Amino acid sequence: MRKKVIAGNWKMNMLPNEAINFINEFAPLVKDTNNEVILCVPYTDLFYALLHVQETNIKIGAQNMHWETTGAYTGEISAEMLKSINVDYVIIGHSERRQYFAETDETVNKKVKKALAVGLKPIVCVGETLQEKEEGKTANVITTQTKLALEGLSPENVKNTIIAYEPIWAIGTGKTATAQDANESIKTIRKEIEENYGKDVAECVIIQYGGSVKSTNAKELFTTSDIDGGLVGGASLKPEEFAKIVNFDKE
Ligand code: PEP
Repeated sequence: MRKKVIAGNWKMNMLPNEAINFINEFAPLVKDTNNEVILCVPYTDLFYALLHVQETNIKIGAQNMHWETTGAYTGEISAEMLKSINVDYVIIGHSERRQYFAETDETVNKKVKKALAVGLKPIVCVGETLQEKEEGKTANVITTQTKLALEGLSPENVKNTIIAYEPIWAIGTGKTATAQDANESIKTIRKEIEENYGKDVAECVIIQYGGSVKSTNAKELFTTSDIDGGLVGGASLKPEEFAKIVNFDKE
């Protein structure tokens, strides 16, 4: 059975002292969960967060990386740099990066390959816009994004990749896809993976849902057949609220 993986995406929030306070309050609340718990924090929090999650079951992720190892890329951070301080996960191709920072399916694919090559687990975001949804293009958009993000990967590497299905119209808007619709989209992504890499790989791949996940809807979403947890933005900034999401299966 696939594990549930719940990752917080803090985006551009939290100074180091806020990150430390968060972890100190949050860690005891999630210490008994069997779910994988990840905090994807800003670069400036990484080092502090890694220090403060020692002796806990919380893993740390970054929110972006560059695909080159070193070089004249002012302002960028490489996969090797993240790995060197023991970061475990990295979000790749979040819709905000695709929208505001011109990330493409091609750069997403380069980053995914590099992350896996150095032993980071990528959390690759795919999802349709409101217009694409209204035009009935959801399945086409998400299967194309998934295919291009994973292009050239070995089946073993695909197993080590997490996909986050995040309908763009649901991110930060308070609008959540229904559990049934999100589950159907995730089944579509799993089918695409099965066609390219086989049933065994498709059955192993963790596919999360993201888009206005809260403690009040987490259980309904995460207990469907194919949703393997969530990528959580706004609600991951409050320790108690995020802990309730992580502990969705405890009540
Ligand atoms: C996200 O940033 O990936 C996200 C899903 O945000 P929110 O939970 O705030 O919609």
